[in-house]
Amino acid sequence: MNGIWRRALVVLALSALAGLILWPMAGAVAALSAFAAILLALVLLHLRHLAMLLAWLRNPTPETIPQGTGAWDDAFAALYRLLRQQRQSESQLSATLKDFQRAGEAMPDGLVILDEADRIEWCNPRAEQHFGIDRGRDVGQSITYLVRHPQFAANLQAQNYSEPLTLRQWRGTDLTLSVQLVPYGDREKLVISRDVTELERVETVRRDFIANVSHELRTPLTVLCGFLETIADTGASDNELLRRSLPLMVDQARRMQRLVDDLLTLSRLESAGNPLREEPVNVPDLVRTLYHDALTLSAGKHRISLNVECDDWLAGAEDELRSAFSNLVSNAVRYTPDAGEVAIGWRREGEGAVFSVRDSGIGIEPRHIPRLTERFYRVDRSRSRETGGTGLGLAIVKHILNRHQARLEVVSEPGRGSRFGAVFPVQRLLAPEHRAQVAQSG
Ligand code: ADP
Repeated sequence: MNGIWRRALVVLALSALAGLILWPMAGAVAALSAFAAILLALVLLHLRHLAMLLAWLRNPTPETIPQGTGAWDDAFAALYRLLRQQRQSESQLSATLKDFQRAGEAMPDGLVILDEADRIEWCNPRAEQHFGIDRGRDVGQSITYLVRHPQFAANLQAQNYSEPLTLRQWRGTDLTLSVQLVPYGDREKLVISRDVTELERVETVRRDFIANVSHELRTPLTVLCGFLETIADTGASDNELLRRSLPLMVDQARRMQRLVDDLLTLSRLESAGNPLREEPVNVPDLVRTLYHDALTLSAGKHRISLNVECDDWLAGAEDELRSAFSNLVSNAVRYTPDAGEVAIGWRREGEGAVFSVRDSGIGIEPRHIPRLTERFYRVDRSRSRETGGTGLGLAIVKHILNRHQARLEVVSEPGRGSRFGAVFPVQRLLAPEHRAQVAQSG
């Protein structure tokens, strides 16, 4: 039995006992009246405490908790403890929240928290600067009203969180922002913005430098190459040393020319002022041409097959796609020993389509595969040189595919061969009725 019941029963028993003692002395009426008076006093005592509780509940603070008697004292003490605990966890929570806000405010990156309907819930001062948000005014506002950029809106709607988006000359200034969307919680999102103006500037200087050097080298190299080839062709020299070194000089000069050409191609692809041309590209025809080029390159040393399984065209730049595909084909021929096989294909895969080149060549160890598209990354430097490689081919392929929202897939096994696939998304495929439209708008 708990304390409240015990105490109540004791009070009732004592009152009843007092009534029983009084009964023989003062009669039944007096005894029952005394008992009733005690009960009434008890009820009044409880009512008074109840009134105190109700009055306190209007503004409940631990400092103003009423003092009670008996069981009410226990109840008030329990309420006091409860309220103190609640106060403590509230202050801990608000300290944590303040810490979080202070950390968010100290962040060098902009941070915006969006709710499930892409409305701003909170942002830090850096995000206010980057996006022109006013925390006092814009909380609850949809982010797309403030960050007016079609690709940003499209990524938000498509929940595309893969790549950060680069916003150049943002809001009419020199500012370049890199904006990343990060999903969290149920359907909330974080927008993280970073000022990459300086990084972009350094990158532009680097790109311009390479482009300029390559450009400057091009003319002298063409002249040099031309003369060397003429001398080599006419066999004009009686000098033995010169006769032996001339083919080597021609070879090296041509190699330098290829390098310069590849560097210029990369610079062009990277240049911000070179948007992708969107023209209808007849891939089946292009692939057939590449097949004939491969036959010429191989000069009968390999078995080369062609498999065009679909007649889809692509929307894109024909010269770029030709360059990317021909790089893959020439690599397959160059890295496949004589009598090996090379299979070229164009077919539907999943939602999109894939241009693939499979070879039975030397293959690549798995640890090299992730690095193949880096500039000048070569598994076997001497073999690449011997076969006329520059080490830039796959870097060019990757750039071109990126510009077409395509990706490069590489599967390879040393000693057994490789398969390079350029996988295009369905949005790039052109049904026959759309080919004319792209041609007109392109
Ligand atoms: P390179 O001009 O040296 O061929 P690439 O950028 O085209 O440069 O290729 C990078 C490296 O990837 C090559 O040096 C080679 O080691 C490897 N590679 C590319 N294609 C193949 C292939 N089909 N089989 C084996 N190795 C390949």
